[in-house]
Amino acid sequence: MSRSTNLVLLGSTGSIGVQALDVVARLRRAGKAFRVVGLSAHTNHELLAEQIEAVRPRVVSLATGEGARWLRDRFPDVQVLEGDGGPAELAALEEVDVVVNAIVGAVGLAATLAALSRGRTVALANKESLVIGGPLVRAALERHGGRLIPVDSEHSALFQCLDAGRKGDVRRLILTASGGPFLNLDPAARASATAEDAFRHPTWSMGRRITVDSATLVNKAFEVIEAHILFDVSYDRVSVVIHPESIVHSLVEFCDGSILAQAATPDMRIPIQYALTYPERVDTGLPRLDVAALGCLEFRRLDEEQFPAFATVLAAALAGGSALVAVNAADEVLVGRFLHGDIVYGDLAIGLAITLDRWRTEVADDGRPLDLLTVESADRWARSIAAGLRFDHR
Ligand code: NAD
Ligand code: MG
Repeated sequence: MSRSTNLVLLGSTGSIGVQALDVVARLRRAGKAFRVVGLSAHTNHELLAEQIEAVRPRVVSLATGEGARWLRDRFPDVQVLEGDGGPAELAALEEVDVVVNAIVGAVGLAATLAALSRGRTVALANKESLVIGGPLVRAALERHGGRLIPVDSEHSALFQCLDAGRKGDVRRLILTASGGPFLNLDPAARASATAEDAFRHPTWSMGRRITVDSATLVNKAFEVIEAHILFDVSYDRVSVVIHPESIVHSLVEFCDGSILAQAATPDMRIPIQYALTYPERVDTGLPRLDVAALGCLEFRRLDEEQFPAFATVLAAALAGGSALVAVNAADEVLVGRFLHGDIVYGDLAIGLAITLDRWRTEVADDGRPLDLLTVESADRWARSIAAGLRFDHR
């Protein structure tokens, strides 16, 4: 294959997006060419402008009209889309081979479906696509023959370990969890913790929402769902183990008692790069692990009582219908409120539990197959509930 691979990067101004562009530059230096044909950002037109200078995409998208006009003035030869439909439009461009979806939140689902329904390959960081739209994503994959390659470090690890055996011989997927910044706090201190405390994550530097979700372990529950959808393994065969150092990114146990693990320095550029080069591996100078210098690695059982939001999200997964759509939307709103200092850490889990309870009595659409209209209405419903919740216990 002589032609370079055409890539669209959605959410290019975020934590994963910026690292993905670094990987593309490294790959180019290593002789593996990707042509970035499209970039998308929500509001950060200044960083997007720098990225346009660096990779010269043919088309970009921005949510805000004002920022889009500013970009058009600066880059007359670049097509600038504006509004919420931009990412899905980029994902559907005719010349695209790979779509990297690094958007945060439920809004990322439309672009994942737009790419898969055209049979494209999606390197997926936007885990919400699978959490809220698992059945829709699966149906699009089956119908149109596209491909989904995980970017999330745990799922990249599982993807790599699963390559070593037959699907029927897999006994269990074991996801590792750092436990987040509050793992060793006593319950009272944890309940009243603030956003500033949550940003002291021990091993990863990430976007704002996933950092908070890592502190509540909502992120880990999302990852259990992600693994269930990606690898078609039932929930009772996906487990979580606490591993504070984030060196082993996940493990697969086979029926003969063998367990395979994938390890690497905690650096998201490694799984991002693998998603782009799979099944090849390329040395682009990313940080290596000095195994002899590691000393001890710790593994311990997850105490679910310490992290009630983890169980609530998984209860929503088992409830079916639009329960996960509702819980995800509520979490997006509650995390926003937490970041504004409006609520404390303990309120996040309480708010999710209230949302799920109300979903069971007021929505309970678990008898119906999920479609996009149901997703949109459950998302709206839960956002208004979560925005209005008052936590009077304080
Ligand atoms: P981030 O907040 O740093 O960046 C999010 C990106 O999405 C930005 O480019 C932003 O412009 C764009 N965006 C936000 N809202 C949007 C909207 N309404 N419409 C269109 N674009 C919008 O987030 P991140 O940490 O890079 O995470 C991105 C995704 O990757 C999330 O789903 C997250 O769970 C997942 N992920 C992140 C990491 C990590 O290390 N950061 C690891 C694994 C998975
Ligand atoms: Mg992860």
